[in-house]
Amino acid sequence: MHKKPYLLGALKEQNLTDNIMANLEAGQSGTVDLDTMNFAGDDAVVPFQIDGLDVRGRSVQLGAALDGILSRHNYPEPVARLLAEIVVLTVLLGTSLKFQGKFILQTQSDGPVDMLVADFTTPDSVRAYARYDLDRVNEAVEKGETAPEQLIGKGTLGLTVDQGSHMQRYQGIVPLDGSTLEDIARTYFRQSEQIPTEIRLAVAKLVTRGEDGKAIEQWRAGGLMVQFLPHSVIKDKELERDLSAKGDESEALSSSDMDQNKWDEARSLVGTIEDAELTDPQVPAERLLYRLFHEQGARIYEPVKVTDTCTCSRDKIVGVLSGFSAEEIKDSVEDGEISVTCEFCSTRYVFDPEEFSSK
Ligand SMILES: [Zn+2]
Repeated sequence: MHKKPYLLGALKEQNLTDNIMANLEAGQSGTVDLDTMNFAGDDAVVPFQIDGLDVRGRSVQLGAALDGILSRHNYPEPVARLLAEIVVLTVLLGTSLKFQGKFILQTQSDGPVDMLVADFTTPDSVRAYARYDLDRVNEAVEKGETAPEQLIGKGTLGLTVDQGSHMQRYQGIVPLDGSTLEDIARTYFRQSEQIPTEIRLAVAKLVTRGEDGKAIEQWRAGGLMVQFLPHSVIKDKELERDLSAKGDESEALSSSDMDQNKWDEARSLVGTIEDAELTDPQVPAERLLYRLFHEQGARIYEPVKVTDTCTCSRDKIVGVLSGFSAEEIKDSVEDGEISVTCEFCSTRYVFDPEEFSSK
C-alpha cells in the first residue's frame, strides 16, 4: 500500500480528478497503483496535510453508508441529523487508528435524545444508533426547540479506543459543552487533546426523482477536521535554541507569531466552508481541499473506505446469553423463544431457550 501523498496544488481545479488519473496512467508520479486510487467518492475518508500551514486533517463525504444507517431506523428528522453528525465525527476520528481495534463515540444526556452512539471498527465498519423519547422529541419539534443542545440536553461525551481484550482501553469522558456537535467536539479537543483542532460537520437530505417520478430522499453528510501539526512546535524549539545562541530573542518570538498566523489562516479557510459544500456530491473531498488550500501545498493520502457494516453476530449474542443465570434466561423468554434485536442494525436473532437451559 502506498502512503506517498499526492500534491494537489500542482493540479488545475476544473479537471482535478482527470488530471490525477492522467498523471497516474502516464506513470508520472511513479508511486501510485491505479487500483488504490479510488478517488475518493462517497464513504471514503481522505487524509491530507497542508505543508504551508503545518496542518494535517481528514475530510469525508458520506452517502450510501449513512443513508443505510439512518433509513434502517426511521428516526425523526432532528434525531437523524444529530446521529449523522456523530457518524461523521466517528469516521473522521476512527479512521486515524493506527492499529486494529474499535473507536466508539457516545453521548449520554438528559434531553429528548438521551444517547447517540457510533463506532468504527477497523478496517472499515461503521455503525450507529440513537436512543430517544418519541413524545419528548415530538414536543420539542412542536415548540421549535430542535437545536442540538435542546435535543441532547446536559450530559457527557465519551470517546473510547478499544484495541482488543489484551490491550488497555483508552477512554476520555468530558461534559457536553457547546451548542452544536461541532462545538462540543472542539471543546473536547481543546480540553483533552490540547491540539489546536478545527472541525466542520454538515448534514443534508438529497431529494432526487426516480424513473417513476417519485421523490427519493437520501441522507448525506460531510465533515472536515484540521489539526495543527505538533512537529512545528518542535521545529520552533530548535529554532529558538539556534537563535538564542546568537543572542537574538526577537526573531525567536516571531517564529511563534508565524505559527499563530498559520493556524489563524487555516482556521479562517476552514471557516469559509459552507454546509452545502460538505454534502454536495459535485464537490468531492479533494475538490474542496483544492479550493481551500491549493496555494499552501495540499497533499492528500490514500482514502480510507467506510462501510455500513454491523459487527454483531449470533455467536456474540450466544456469548452474552451464556453468561445469564437460569432465572435471567427464564425472564428473557417470550412466546417460547428468546429474541434479541441488535440496536445498531435491527437484525433480530431468535433462540430456543433450551440452548441455555443447562445452567
Ligand atoms: Zn447488528
